[in-house]
Amino acid sequence: MNIFKCKHTPLICKTLCAVLAALIIFLVWYICSTNNSLNALDKRIDKLTSQSAKTEKELNAKLKEANATIKDNEAQLKEYRDLINRLKAENAEQAALIGELQTPLNGRDEKTAEPADTKIAYLTFDDGPSEHTEEILKILSERGAVGTFFVINNKYLDKAAAIHKQGSALAMHSATHDYKTIYSSVDAYFADLYMIEARIYEVTGIKPKIMRLPGGSSNTVSKDYATGVVTQIVERLNAEGYIYFDWNVDSTDASAASVPALTLLEKVKSACVDKPVINVLMHDTDQKKTTVEALPLIIDYLRSEGYQFMTLSPTSTLIQHSVNN
Ligand SMILES: [Zn+2]
Repeated sequence: MNIFKCKHTPLICKTLCAVLAALIIFLVWYICSTNNSLNALDKRIDKLTSQSAKTEKELNAKLKEANATIKDNEAQLKEYRDLINRLKAENAEQAALIGELQTPLNGRDEKTAEPADTKIAYLTFDDGPSEHTEEILKILSERGAVGTFFVINNKYLDKAAAIHKQGSALAMHSATHDYKTIYSSVDAYFADLYMIEARIYEVTGIKPKIMRLPGGSSNTVSKDYATGVVTQIVERLNAEGYIYFDWNVDSTDASAASVPALTLLEKVKSACVDKPVINVLMHDTDQKKTTVEALPLIIDYLRSEGYQFMTLSPTSTLIQHSVNN
């Protein structure tokens, strides 16, 4: 039955029914549309949630990556810091070494460059060190003089450091100073030379290139052991860059067991006449007490004659004898 077409249904009821129906329709529509909206909202929330999860994941990954980078950088920074510290320490060591090397070099430069128009005296002492070395160094220091010590490998060789410290020069003479051995062959001579070179280096850290042959390069004693051996030795010394010095003033302190100090002074006086550069031969051995006594007199005399005292170096005036074997 259609209540809207029924004549017995009052108008009010029809109106109410129509309103109710409309309300129901509206409600149904509202619910449906709200539902749709909710669904859409849900989907949106889902989408946002998944997006947020994705973003969070990405952010976490990036954070992890950043943390790893920071860790790497920190490790690298530590490495750099260690490297800087190591380099600083090395620099300090090198600077100290340069300082150490420069001090003696500076001192030496002043002593080795021969000034023009000046008389030069090279005081040389063979066969040391000895029990007199300290006394000799003291005399030299007190008189502002220096010398050159051609040393051998004896029980006093530790004193080589004091020679260097005083400002005098260290030079090679022989390890054994045994004529029979060293002049038996060129190889035997060089084996002995390398030994004294190594010993000086061991004691002082210095490798002198200057040396003096036992007996001098003019010695004829070597003829007893090998003919022509000094000629060959001298050739090889030159080839290997060693520089040998003989002398042009002999104090004659080796001419007897003990020569009076005044005799030594007179020999030096007469031998240095007309010589602008002198290389004075003396000996630093336990037996040569008179050499120590004569030394102050010799220094004072030479100074009064205008000589300046210097240490021998590779650039010094080369005083060499004629080879006799
Ligand atoms: Zn000698």
